[in-house]
Amino acid sequence: MAFITTRYNELKLELAEKQVDLVAVSKTKPLEDLLEAYEEGQKDFGENYVQELLEKASAMPADTRWHFIGHLQTNKVKQIAPVVYLVHGVDSEKLLSELNKQAAKLNKNINCLLQVHIAEEETKFGFSMEEVTAVNISSYPNLTICGLMGMASFTNDKEQVQKEFRSLDKLYKEMQRKYPAFKTLSMGMSGDYKIAVAEGSTMVRIGSMLFGERK
Ligand SMILES: *Cc1c(COP(=O)(O)O)cnc(C)c1O
Repeated sequence: MAFITTRYNELKLELAEKQVDLVAVSKTKPLEDLLEAYEEGQKDFGENYVQELLEKASAMPADTRWHFIGHLQTNKVKQIAPVVYLVHGVDSEKLLSELNKQAAKLNKNINCLLQVHIAEEETKFGFSMEEVTAVNISSYPNLTICGLMGMASFTNDKEQVQKEFRSLDKLYKEMQRKYPAFKTLSMGMSGDYKIAVAEGSTMVRIGSMLFGERK
């Protein structure tokens, strides 16, 4: 299954109207699919395994922006720090410290989003709403903590999904008053991005809709 150009162009138009950014989630997909997307103008790609991201990064054009959307282990930060553009799933102060440390070593700045647990399932990672407001955002000089990320429950109950996204948007806007650097609310995937956009998302992470189902 290759990159679906017609869907991509429709989606780009739909998102442009709302000024929402698109991360093309290319995990498990072969390099030629990513190159097709790149040729159509897509520069932002999301991966959730460090090794896979590094392999693809070494083969793709240098101006590709790599988003790490998976659960990042502290012992992998060092490998990913030189290439990553935005880390979506930061879910502990320990991880923030390590990201800051590795960024400082490289004399660079790393963009991060704090992941908030909004779903009903217990398996999803993230800070609770209370925890995230207590994060010491200004104590990481080599990080730009520029917003929040969340995943809704895996359910067909649209009202539930809407409720979860709405609560994250509310929190995002509250935190934005205190932290003007907040400019990204990453929420919405292939199955729920329309709800996410209606509830205030500024960045969607879309995979299967563009590249076909994953095995
Ligand atoms: C896989 C993944 C996506 C994309 O999922 P699709 O349903 O294929 O659009 C988005 N966000 C995260 C965190 C993911 O792991």
